Amino acid sequence: MTERVAGQIVQPGAVVPGFVEVDGSVIVEVAARNRAGDDIVLPGFVDLHCHGGGGHTFTTGDPVAARAAAAFHLRHGTTTMLASLVSSPFALMRDATAAYRALVADGTIAGIHFEGPYLSAVRCGAQNPAYLRDPSIEELRALVDLGGGAVSMVTVAPELPGATDAVAYLVAAGVIAALGHTDATYEQTVAAVAAGAAVGTHLFNGMRPPHHREPGPVIALLNAPALVCELVADGFHLHPGILAFAARAAGPDRAALITDAMDAAGMPDGEYDLGGQAVVVADRVARLARNGSIAGSTLTMDLALHRAVAAGIALPDASAMASTTPARVLGLGDRTGALSAGLAADLVVLSPDLEVKRVMRAGRWVS
Ligand SMILES: [Zn+2]
Ligand SMILES: [Zn+2]
Repeated sequence: MTERVAGQIVQPGAVVPGFVEVDGSVIVEVAARNRAGDDIVLPGFVDLHCHGGGGHTFTTGDPVAARAAAAFHLRHGTTTMLASLVSSPFALMRDATAAYRALVADGTIAGIHFEGPYLSAVRCGAQNPAYLRDPSIEELRALVDLGGGAVSMVTVAPELPGATDAVAYLVAAGVIAALGHTDATYEQTVAAVAAGAAVGTHLFNGMRPPHHREPGPVIALLNAPALVCELVADGFHLHPGILAFAARAAGPDRAALITDAMDAAGMPDGEYDLGGQAVVVADRVARLARNGSIAGSTLTMDLALHRAVAAGIALPDASAMASTTPARVLGLGDRTGALSAGLAADLVVLSPDLEVKRVMRAGRWVS
């Protein structure tokens, strides 16, 4: 059964009035047509970094909560996502890997992202310092073997002992090595990129700030020709000028919008928990109760896209950053992340003011 979704179709580098024709779970045609209406049709969003939403968290390894968190973000247009855990004891990482295998198998999530625990104590942000430790290939091997393909990405700080070997192990095992929560020098970061690191975890946040005589990780990551930089476009994590600068410096093919959302996304202000630490959300900003450090975000991908456009990033570029580039990072570029014949019918329909109207995943309207 075919269905046509008409509107302003967001394509690489252009927005064209027309329609997307869907047959079953697949896009079969994308064509231009006059009088297509004002709705904006984009590829479904792909979120590489998300800890929860709608009052539900990925960080405890509970599959029921994880399904609810994924469903919340799906209603906001995220058709593909990783489930991110903050720094945790190994037993929790192992149990979460075992519990989330079924969710990866049925497509609820694309994989698991371990943000730590191999991170810098100096740049730990809202990561629980009690769980930070040096990289362990034994732990990583156990998780990768247990996951059977479910472990998609691991964030490490490149300056820690054994970090370069850990990056090389991950890459050889088919897992994305990401660099973040780091106090590394420029040179240490370059070495980890040379070992195969492919993603910078929330560029600028949780990193030694750049200096013109010690550029540090931010500039090393922006300079790396094939590395994708995650950006938290919530208006708090990054000044809009920095967001626009980073997107321009990396280009839409190397910049990915992420939510880094915690369970408080879509929920009222109040008290929450992130990896065993108390978090207070006030005016949509989540901060650790003990020191005021920014603790994840309350973003959804539709709002991240909106903020990116408000920062001056052209809609086709923002769409590439929200879908095409992160899909490619996950190795899913031949399945989703763009509106092209042959790809999955994952799409978001926005109003002209960029509010979500409808979301389709694999050919089925979910909202
Ligand atoms: Zn973080
Ligand atoms: Zn995070």
